[in-house]
Amino acid sequence: MSFYPPRRTLMGPGPSDVYPRVSEALSRPTIGHLDPEFIRLMDEIKGLLQYAFQTDNALTLPVSAPGSAGMETCFVNLFEPGDQVIVLQNGVFGGRMQENVTRLGGQAIVAKTPWGRAVDLEQAESTIKQHPEAKAVAFVHAETSTGAMSDATALCNMASSAGMLSIVDTVTGLGGIEVAVDKWGADAVYSGTQKCLSCVPGLSPVTFSPRSQKVISSRNTPVQSWFLDLNLVMAYWGEGTQRAYHHTAPVNALYALHEALTMLKEEGLQASWQRHSDNHQALKAGLNAMGLELIVPAESRLPQLNAVAVPESVDEARVRQQLLAEFNLEIGAGLGELAGRVWRIGLMGCSSNPTNVRTCLAALEHCLLSQGVKLEAGAAVAAASAHYGH
Ligand SMILES: *Cc1c(COP(=O)(O)O)cnc(C)c1O
Repeated sequence: MSFYPPRRTLMGPGPSDVYPRVSEALSRPTIGHLDPEFIRLMDEIKGLLQYAFQTDNALTLPVSAPGSAGMETCFVNLFEPGDQVIVLQNGVFGGRMQENVTRLGGQAIVAKTPWGRAVDLEQAESTIKQHPEAKAVAFVHAETSTGAMSDATALCNMASSAGMLSIVDTVTGLGGIEVAVDKWGADAVYSGTQKCLSCVPGLSPVTFSPRSQKVISSRNTPVQSWFLDLNLVMAYWGEGTQRAYHHTAPVNALYALHEALTMLKEEGLQASWQRHSDNHQALKAGLNAMGLELIVPAESRLPQLNAVAVPESVDEARVRQQLLAEFNLEIGAGLGELAGRVWRIGLMGCSSNPTNVRTCLAALEHCLLSQGVKLEAGAAVAAASAHYGH
C-alpha cells in the first residue's frame, strides 16, 4: 500500500514546512548524475550556495547526506589523529563536535558555556590562550537545542588571530539570520537544507576557505571516511566539464535545493532575515501575553528557534501530543538537559509566517486552558496581531 503522510504544520526544530515550489521541483524527471545538463545545475547550485553563505570560496558544495554528515565532513577532512581541537560547547550539537574529534583520534579541548547562553567570549579567549598548540576552534553559531546564537564574527577572529582554523555549525542559521562566511573569516562552515531553507532533509551545504582547502590537500594520512573525503568528492563536484563518478548524487533532492536557494535569492537575504525576526517578535509577544517566557536572554535569541520554559503545573509531552492530534501542529521537545523543561518552537523558512504564529499561539492557548492553566483567552493572538499592526 502507498504511504500518504498526514498534512502537518511543522514548527519544531526542523524539518520545516517545504515550499510547494520545492516539492514540485523534487518530482521533476530524474536525469543522470553526469548528464551535461545536470553538471550545469551543479554549477548553479554552487553559485547559489556561495550567495547564501556570502562567500567566494571555490570549495562550496552540498554534501549528499544530512547536516550531521556536513559536520563530519568538516572534522574528518581537516583533522588527523593527534590533532587538538578546541570545542566551545553550549548545547547538544557542540557535544557532537566533541564526539567527532574524539572518534577520529584527535584530542578535544572542551570549554562549556551554560545551556541557553551564547558561547562565552572571555572563556573562549582564555581557552585559546591556554592551548596555543590547538589546530582549530569549533562552535555552533545557531544552537538548535537551546535557541542561542553565538557571536561568529568574534569567535572566528579569535581563532584566526591565534593562527587556528575555525569550524562553524550554522545548520539552523543559514537563511534565517546573517551568515557571512568571508566577513567572519570562517574556515569550514556547514549547514542543512531542512531548517531555514525549507528544502527537503538529506543534504548538507558546506564551504571551505582557501586556507582550509590547503590543509585538506596536504594531509599526511588519508581521510578515514572514503565517502566524505573531499579530495575524492571534488573529482565530481570540482571545476570544469569533466566530472568523474564518485557516488550517485541525489539528483532530485538537488533539484529541490536549487529551487529553495533560488527562492532565497528572489526574496533576498536581508528580507529573509527580517521576516524571521518579525515573526519571532510577534510569537514572543503572544507567548508573553500567555505568561510564557523564552529561556535565552534577548540579545542572543535565535528568531528561528524559540525555546519556551514549560510552566511548573503543565505536562510538557501532553501539550505536544495534543497539538499534533488536534491541530496537526508539530513543535519540538527539549533535548539533553532541557528535556521536559522546554518546548522548542521553530519559525524556520517557509514555516516563518504570521498565519503559523497565530495558529500556534491559539492552539497552545487551547492546550494550556485544557490543562487548567489560568490565562486570558484571546490575549496571545491579540498581542501577536498588535505586533504585526493588523
Ligand atoms: C539539525 C542540526 C544538525 C544536524 O542536522 P541533521 O540534518 O539532523 O543531520 C546539526 N547541527 C545543528 C545546530 C542542527 O540544528
